[in-house]
Amino acid sequence: MSELFAFADDYGPAKVVAIHHPKASLKAILVVDNVAAGPAIGGARMAVDVTYEECFRLARAMTWKNAAAGLPHGGAKAVIFADPTMPEADKERTMRAFARAIEPIADYVPGPDMGTNEACMAWVTDEIGRAVGLPRVIGGIPLDEIGATGFGLATAAEAVAATGRIMLDGARVVVQGYGAVGRHAARFLDERGAQLVAVSDSRGAIRHDDGLDLDALDTLKADGRSVADLDHGVAISADDLIGVPCDIWIPAARPDVLSGANVDRLDTKLFLQGANIPATLDAEQRLHERGILSVPDFIANAGGVICGAVEFRGGSERAAFDVIAQSIGRNTKEVLERSLTDNAPPRTAALAMAGERVRTAMRFRQ
Ligand code: NAD
Repeated sequence: MSELFAFADDYGPAKVVAIHHPKASLKAILVVDNVAAGPAIGGARMAVDVTYEECFRLARAMTWKNAAAGLPHGGAKAVIFADPTMPEADKERTMRAFARAIEPIADYVPGPDMGTNEACMAWVTDEIGRAVGLPRVIGGIPLDEIGATGFGLATAAEAVAATGRIMLDGARVVVQGYGAVGRHAARFLDERGAQLVAVSDSRGAIRHDDGLDLDALDTLKADGRSVADLDHGVAISADDLIGVPCDIWIPAARPDVLSGANVDRLDTKLFLQGANIPATLDAEQRLHERGILSVPDFIANAGGVICGAVEFRGGSERAAFDVIAQSIGRNTKEVLERSLTDNAPPRTAALAMAGERVRTAMRFRQ
């Protein structure tokens, strides 16, 4: 059996398309994993070193994320084997050739991902009339600018607070990675009475137990400086950030930052996953044993994909916020209840929930 089927199971992939267009120097792979709930939405990633395996795994992750968010969309991913820093005119040619190649795959709707952006999605739309993550002038909702994912994280925290396991008013928050996700999560939590007490970026970390000034942090970042340059607080090491006592610890940077080696230093009540796969599976299991609640990435950080789905239907920014609030609030509550009933880590509960939704949708298809 071909190795292309190495990952095939009852859920997918539905289609694997290899695209080769020598004249346009285009080599790409599209994995449409599952379309039972509706057309698959998934990022088109541009990088020189991506693999088919990575593409498949990311496509499956999108199946779970879209199903968990309750969206009428399946999961897919495309990878374009090219250097994303190529000159703009070459990038436009590559994206337009990619768009024409995927045009017949009507159940795939591309979105921006690593190496692609709003302009790339505008070129795709110009060619084939479909993509999400578009510039605002042509109907896009700029999800990083409005803080869609950070808002979703704050909504998940509210759902946890509703169970009595944390209180948002006066909650102490630590954020790893003060970028699009981390910055907005801190701001939306601040609006709910919480206080950011420590934060990091790729160049340093800072702690201030009386609360960090968010406006001052934003100004520093806008000037291209590090959060560690703040004039109040104490600079700490990136590693020390893990052990800062708090109520909510938010990873919003890199994968696998929490592992078996450092999970026992975490001193928090809620591990709220902004980044994708921020903890290893053994670390998640250990959090569960220690009674630290963890809201999995594909539940907590779904604000961005929900925003894309609302945009796809021509919805407004206001509608996107409403759907994010409803959907992430409801899903976080359900995952916590299942986790409690089954005495299983929240990730196990969330996967069971997403799997059930996909299987239910599959029963309506031939
Ligand atoms: P971003 O590039 O805007 O911000 C990332 C931040 O993390 C930057 O401040 C960077 O300096 C910092 N950083 C990088 N390496 C670090 C390290 N080792 N330690 C501490 N800080 C570090 O990216 P983003 O859009 O905010 O995405 C952050 C994470 O969230 C990624 O894992 C991404 O896949 C995930 N995510 C993003 C969205 C979204 O809507 N943007 C949605 C879902 C998941």
